[in-house]
Amino acid sequence: MSIVDRPQEQTYKGGWKLPLVEAFYSIQGEGYHTGKAAYFIRIGGCDIGCHWCDSKVTWDARVHPLVPVEQIVTDVEQTPARSIVVTGGEPSLYQLDFLCRLLKEKGLRTYLETSGTGEFTGQWDWICLSPKKQSPPKPHFYARADELKVIIFGQDDFRWAEQAASRVDKGTSLYLQPEWSRYQQLIHPITEYVKAHPQWQVSLQAHKFMRIP
Ligand code: SF4
Repeated sequence: MSIVDRPQEQTYKGGWKLPLVEAFYSIQGEGYHTGKAAYFIRIGGCDIGCHWCDSKVTWDARVHPLVPVEQIVTDVEQTPARSIVVTGGEPSLYQLDFLCRLLKEKGLRTYLETSGTGEFTGQWDWICLSPKKQSPPKPHFYARADELKVIIFGQDDFRWAEQAASRVDKGTSLYLQPEWSRYQQLIHPITEYVKAHPQWQVSLQAHKFMRIP
């Protein structure tokens, strides 16, 4: 059953409730904001099916509780967090205007991590687009990306990374990130690639090295 066929669709159609996998305050481990404190809101539901996905628990939104967005934002306020990363799963499957409005009303910065396969909703201070070959982003996401982060699993992914980079704006930060389970094999080709193509930077999953969520 696809996510749009779900019987409980009506309960989150307006974005008043979201299937919440987890929410936690930690350190951003990837991309442009690496090393900065951030509160993560991980929303369930993803039909892209990356075989190397390290968040497979998120795929089926039905197994995660539908949590009122007001509650999600109240929980954020129990921490000193100023930056909120909305991730998944694939958060663009949902209507995120209400969530962003409440977060902005609290003066919080809103960051989106997306593959860009759904609709664009919400108000974002930063968008990290992580495109997937088997399910490319909708065109409007390329123009909105502040950061392009391509996961490298095999040689062909460098070509995919260049294709995606040709579609984003000039000022967009470009990152190549080794797929975690193949880090040892990939880190050398990636560093060599970045040396030869210095418009790119290396992104590591620093939170995994730090052994934090
Ligand atoms: S898009 Fe993200 S959550 Fe979805 S399958 Fe790929 S890695 Fe996993």
